[in-house]
Amino acid sequence: MKTLAEAITGSIKKALNIPKEFVPLHEPCFSGNESKYLQECIDSTFVSSVGKFVNRFEKELAEYTGAKHVVLVVNGTSALHMSLLLVGVESGDEVLVPALTFVATANAVRYCGAVPHFVDSEERTLGIDPEALREYLQHSSEQRDGVCVNRSTGCPIRALIPVHIFGHPCDIDGLLAVAKDFNLNLIEDAAESLGSTYHGQHTGTFGLLGIISFNGNKTITTGGGGAILTDDPVLAKRVKHLTTTAKLSHRWEYKHDEVGYNFRMPNLNAALGCAQLEDLPELLASKRRLFRCYQEAFQDIPQVSLFEEPEGSRSNYWLQTLLLDDSVANQRDAILETTNSSGLMTRPIWKLLNKLAPFCDFPCAPVPVAESLESRIVNLPSSTGLV
Ligand SMILES: *Cc1c(COP(=O)(O)O)cnc(C)c1O
Repeated sequence: MKTLAEAITGSIKKALNIPKEFVPLHEPCFSGNESKYLQECIDSTFVSSVGKFVNRFEKELAEYTGAKHVVLVVNGTSALHMSLLLVGVESGDEVLVPALTFVATANAVRYCGAVPHFVDSEERTLGIDPEALREYLQHSSEQRDGVCVNRSTGCPIRALIPVHIFGHPCDIDGLLAVAKDFNLNLIEDAAESLGSTYHGQHTGTFGLLGIISFNGNKTITTGGGGAILTDDPVLAKRVKHLTTTAKLSHRWEYKHDEVGYNFRMPNLNAALGCAQLEDLPELLASKRRLFRCYQEAFQDIPQVSLFEEPEGSRSNYWLQTLLLDDSVANQRDAILETTNSSGLMTRPIWKLLNKLAPFCDFPCAPVPVAESLESRIVNLPSSTGLV
């Protein structure tokens, strides 16, 4: 009798149909103009934060996502950090973030001196549950002079950061309505969701500001890199200023009007980004094919299912997600053990942030769904070009 872990290992192999020694969780794919643009960038000597590829990548990302303004920065975490500063998050504030997200979302809140306030997710999207959030805020917060205040800590709750987990769009309409009703600035963490849309509109363009990551493990990469998306010209100008040492433009004077940051994306990284963006449609098609292959391969195992894009949304399927039934959640570690021992790199979803040492003392709503998801999710090898 095969164990569930062995059956799952067999299904992954069947879906991938490649006798590779080792299949990583996610590796980048450089099959277009990457070398050419990098060489061009080096030949131009403009390898740092000024150069034509930075401007070009910003323009092309704006066209692709439909955002009016895009500002490139050194990584997704700094993009979140800057966005939070821009909406006025400061020391003593709280920011609502899902307990179930990558640690960077909460780290960025801490960089502002604010504290993350963790909330629950929903199984349908893997993102923040708007109904649970509304109900929670109704009894745990109050409005004081147009500011949402946490009743038990007395601190302002300044912002809300929904995350599109693994590229699957969360219920952004529901969350925008909560943000409006409770006076919260909504910043979208679309780090993982380049290429994902919600009712046809690109993720990251719904909030006041949205961010994307181009880390090496994301759908497209610039080595390290991030982007801030906004439709607000004043915010866009402020972001650019703040991320380029707050220098006032002048032919020779070094005048800075506040403590700025050196967070501009270098031209070298943007050159890689321009080439990667050209490949994006192909990469997205490949990820969708991989989803179908896994879905088919797992059909015979009734205790597991492959997470499918929520209705009304189109996911980039960044990381393929196997969802275990409650009845077999206790076999998650055996599944991780067997697949990894067979050269198939699988990973559990992140540990809930409210349980990690740097965050365990911060406010946290009841998070039963996030806890359940944490125990039941296994990410499968998801690189493009696997099928
Ligand atoms: C990757 C990621 C980030 C941070 O992006 P970096 O470019 O790695 O700094 C933030 N949030 C989420 C959800 C991510 O997956």
